[in-house]
Amino acid sequence: MTKPQKCSSTWSAMLGCKSEMKEGCCWAVGNGEKIHIKTDPWILKLHNKRPIPNFLSTEQLVLVSELILQNPPSEEGTEDKLLWLHHPNGVFTAKSFIKTLNDRAPSSSHYGNAGNIPWKKFWQVKVLAPNLQIFAWIILNNGIAVGSRMMTYYKDINTECRMCNGVVETLEHLFLYCPVSQAVLFASHLTLRIDASLNLSVHHYIKSWLLEGGDYSKLKMGICLFWSIWKTRNNIVFNKGTVHIQKMLQETYYWFHRDTNIQNDTTLPSEQDLLDSAETVWSPPTQSKMKINFDGAAGIRGFACAAVARNYNCEFNGCQTQVFAFSIPVEAEAHGALVGIELAISKAMRHIIVEGDSLTVINSLKYNNFPVPWRIKNTIGKIKDKLGNFTSVDFNFIKKEANFMAHSLAAYAVQNQLSNQWLTSPPSCITHLFSEDSSS
Ligand SMILES: [Zn+2]
Repeated sequence: MTKPQKCSSTWSAMLGCKSEMKEGCCWAVGNGEKIHIKTDPWILKLHNKRPIPNFLSTEQLVLVSELILQNPPSEEGTEDKLLWLHHPNGVFTAKSFIKTLNDRAPSSSHYGNAGNIPWKKFWQVKVLAPNLQIFAWIILNNGIAVGSRMMTYYKDINTECRMCNGVVETLEHLFLYCPVSQAVLFASHLTLRIDASLNLSVHHYIKSWLLEGGDYSKLKMGICLFWSIWKTRNNIVFNKGTVHIQKMLQETYYWFHRDTNIQNDTTLPSEQDLLDSAETVWSPPTQSKMKINFDGAAGIRGFACAAVARNYNCEFNGCQTQVFAFSIPVEAEAHGALVGIELAISKAMRHIIVEGDSLTVINSLKYNNFPVPWRIKNTIGKIKDKLGNFTSVDFNFIKKEANFMAHSLAAYAVQNQLSNQWLTSPPSCITHLFSEDSSS
């Protein structure tokens, strides 16, 4: 079967594991018009479910229907029906397909070439919808038909990434390093910053989410993001669609929040990490201090950062945004911290707490011996140069959820391409958040 021009993401994903599907199928003969005598499985008792070619001397017979005409059929006129043998009623369902893969996964050597993925654990994950689990499995088995792979089958195919039209579309480029994917991964709840210098693979990310265990929410979000990227890419390739970051995120969250109807019966204990100890709710500073929250955001036209200052009473004390066309996520975050410092200086603040959800930026500012990524070295240096303007400065890492106001403002700035400073009253996009944070 070849891939049709117009093709749904599920269908194209399933084509990637068609050999596994084929093995589980057999035709129930009706009028025999759909069944090829030699190539289709139609005799359940035989090995491979089809006659051994050498036994067939009658070369002219092609369809089973032609065989039937020579021996009057018992059920005339009924259509041939393809059966899925792993389901009692012969009906193919994604659930039953996954179960089949699940049953054979641990013993099958064919699964061993995907970078030591703990397959047993993978198939035990119950939070993914069946189509997403199959999709992840196909990615891990290099079954995704990206441009670089298609090149080996078709010479004249366009192998460029259709989302950025920049480079050859490899698995890693499409899901991680394409500027569009980077923007989506960073703007999502994962706030995933892809550092190209580390050159990590898609397998690496999926495996690390899998090993993290817990409720597998990172794994789920990651796969939903990859799924959304894959759908967008296919929509561009097959339907002349376009890139729309916000729609890609909506698609991601749709799949993430969709009920999979599968009970989560094997919850593994979660690993302790730095995130566990960080604050999940924003808290005001002590009376003498001012707290400045910063964040970065990615959008289709570039990046933006924002910083918001609040006092012990959760009252607004100024905010600032800045947009830039060329950047990477961690740079946007570091700029957010710089913008926060500049805001504090312009408001003549003395005691400040600089707070953000980028551990890299906070650690770079907090510890002198922290290996600062070269992309943000300059910005971190600029911030440190300005710290002499304050009597006291603290740097604090918090969870993304607690940094919602700065995040909203940065998102607003990137959407509206707005670099601005508000000193007396907050912009309308965050006004409603003041009552929320102070009441919690
Ligand atoms: Zn690209």
